[in-house]
Amino acid sequence: MLNGNLKVAVQKKGRLTDKSLQLLRSCGLDIEEYSERLIVTARNYELDILFLRDDDIPEYVQDGVADIGIVGYDVVKERNAEIEVLRHLGFGKCRLMMAIPEEQDIESVENLQGKRIATSFPAIVKEYLNANKIEAKVIEISGSVEIAPSLGVADLICDLVSTGNTLKLNKLKKTFTVFESDAVLIGNKNLNLDESKWKLLASLLTRIDSVLKARNSKYLMMNVPKENLDEIKNVLPSLKSPTIVPLADESMLAVHAVIPTDTFWQINEKLKSAGASGILLLAIENMIL
Ligand code: AMP
Repeated sequence: MLNGNLKVAVQKKGRLTDKSLQLLRSCGLDIEEYSERLIVTARNYELDILFLRDDDIPEYVQDGVADIGIVGYDVVKERNAEIEVLRHLGFGKCRLMMAIPEEQDIESVENLQGKRIATSFPAIVKEYLNANKIEAKVIEISGSVEIAPSLGVADLICDLVSTGNTLKLNKLKKTFTVFESDAVLIGNKNLNLDESKWKLLASLLTRIDSVLKARNSKYLMMNVPKENLDEIKNVLPSLKSPTIVPLADESMLAVHAVIPTDTFWQINEKLKSAGASGILLLAIENMIL
């Protein structure tokens, strides 16, 4: 496949696959259903998607087989490859946590001293223990780590958690967070790309940034009494000054603003107290700043 296309590695089949493809599609790339294929070429961009095992993605990017890749930050840290994190993508969020049998308690990290910890992330766990000056035995297990304590193989585990349901099923409970992860876009450290690939990458990054920005923002519309406009403006965390539109009822104005999604529920009550009505919050598909 030495066709000059930008090569992006994506997890073949797993938790990050759909959201990675969704992100690329939101960037305007026309990607056909991948089914069982290992390489898919976008119809409207010089880009090939290589579907690979996620554990292998950091090395493939390091070695230049793929120019860039989308993979969990946990995998990047664990594999310790010579790559660069270009963007945090905000999906695939999870935490690597220490978990202990339900009937036990751990008060502080010091209680890990001398314990046996089963994990699929030995490098991250060892780094955490070293940073906290703890000597403990790290037992590497590649899957079903949760059963290690009940088998007597380990005293506790360190594993990825999102809801905690798997832990509960295995009579374990969460304690400290060792590492927080989300999906990241990675690139080769020396990005050994020729000029045309650089252009493809730069343009893709611009598109990704605008999609990420849009995902974190919403378009807010509301009607407000003219006399309360200053109060409303003070509440709004808008990017620039809001759009103000006159209404048929001359005592009222329509106010439109782009706001960070997570601020809406904090300001909603204040907007209503300032007389805002007909509040609408709309998704934004793309945002070019
Ligand atoms: P998979 O191999 O399909 O389970 O995908 C694993 C990747 O998904 C991990 O490397 C994480 O980056 C991410 N992930 C997100 N939530 C979780 C979770 N609850 N458990 C395991 N991995 C998760």
